[in-house]
Amino acid sequence: MTVIIGLEIHCQLNTSSKLFCECSTDYRDDEPNTHVCPICLGLPGSLPKINKKAVEYTLKVAKAFHCEVAEEAEFARKNYFYPDLPKGFQITMYDHPLGSHGYIEIEGDEGEKRIQITRIHLEEDPGRLVHKGGGDRPRYSLVDYNRSGIPLLEIVTEPDLRSPKEARKLLNNIRAMLEYLRVFDGDKEGALRVDANISIEGYSRVEVKNISSYKGVEKALMFEITRQRSLLRRGQPIERETRHFLESRGITTTSRGKEVEHDYRYFPEPDLRPLRVKDWVPSIDLPELPIARRDRFMAQYGISINHAKTLTGELKLADFYEKVAPIDPVLAATWVADTLLGELNYRNLSVGIMSPQHFKQMLRLIKEGTITDKGAIEVLRYILDQAANNEPTDEPLLIVERLGIGKTAGEEFIPIAKEVINTNQAAVQDFCRGKKEALNFLVGQLMKKTRGKADPRELGKIIESLITQSNAGA
Ligand code: ZN
Ligand code: MN
Repeated sequence: MTVIIGLEIHCQLNTSSKLFCECSTDYRDDEPNTHVCPICLGLPGSLPKINKKAVEYTLKVAKAFHCEVAEEAEFARKNYFYPDLPKGFQITMYDHPLGSHGYIEIEGDEGEKRIQITRIHLEEDPGRLVHKGGGDRPRYSLVDYNRSGIPLLEIVTEPDLRSPKEARKLLNNIRAMLEYLRVFDGDKEGALRVDANISIEGYSRVEVKNISSYKGVEKALMFEITRQRSLLRRGQPIERETRHFLESRGITTTSRGKEVEHDYRYFPEPDLRPLRVKDWVPSIDLPELPIARRDRFMAQYGISINHAKTLTGELKLADFYEKVAPIDPVLAATWVADTLLGELNYRNLSVGIMSPQHFKQMLRLIKEGTITDKGAIEVLRYILDQAANNEPTDEPLLIVERLGIGKTAGEEFIPIAKEVINTNQAAVQDFCRGKKEALNFLVGQLMKKTRGKADPRELGKIIESLITQSNAGA
């Protein structure tokens, strides 16, 4: 049973002002309805003015995703009545989007694959409704128009995806690309919202709305596939319907009552002129994009393709790597891609929390042999735990001293080594008879007792010399 998935992805463009007025988009913790004006409140008589930056950003994305740009892109009114939309319509694009017929390359389930882009367009975000007073049946709703008019880029794909995993890959690629183009900040609230069309080949299509996180997309799709398959197994029909994803419960639910098919009565927006911007496209310079950067990392730093892919998969991670690479590019790649990233993901933190200065110092301590790999992981965890608690982070050197995990000169371990030798005479005999593995065993015992503070090679040397000494004395 082939699964067919197409996505509609809304991404918030990071312009400093809104799409049709001069209100600031940076509302963060500000009071509701403080970033508003007659235009984004939809007051009668107000007229929209197009934000040139938002158009330029959209053209950048269209170019990067190999889209055709329209001779005349046109805004349209999508009419519907809902309190988050004070005008009674949303200004979006319909028949004439800015970009169309592009593609995005992803690593699909069966190798490299192109996902066709149907269209890319620009539209305004509605306001935000806050439902108050008791769970399932809120008593009243509040509306905040700080978001109203924030520019959204909408990317619609063809139904080319075949699994939730491919959908996640696609989103990761889009996120990386938009961040590289400096038009998007994925860490912002509401930065990304996805609607998914999903069906099992030969059966009705279901639209899942309201997915608002990267992890949510995969979860919602997996749930929906399981639901549709089990309906088929029981011989029940799959209704063509719109369902909502409940992030907290990881399920999709049908909207109560019969979903009304909307008639949005689209018509051209009379207050805005068509955008004749195709001529701009050749003069738009694209920065170094993820694939080019990956190839450069391999050539310039001599790191593996897997490390290069991981490190360039996120703009901030790639920038971080380049800051710490001078200490030792290959060592740095391993520590950033394999260790740091894992520890960050585990704590749900982003790389911005790690100071490149501290990380460089840690790499230097590893390189100079001041700490073992195990010690370095302890340092890293210590710093990330501090950061996660919003505490200022300490320098690695200080942490090494505080935890007493610095590699110390061999002498310190001699008494413990002697103890290990005395209590493991059988292994010592084996070693004297030329069994190399016996030494590893002894080192292992010693490592346990020294809790990884010392380098195993050093310990091996200590044990060997102690055994030789006692043999010579005997
Ligand atoms: Zn405004
Ligand atoms: Mn839309």
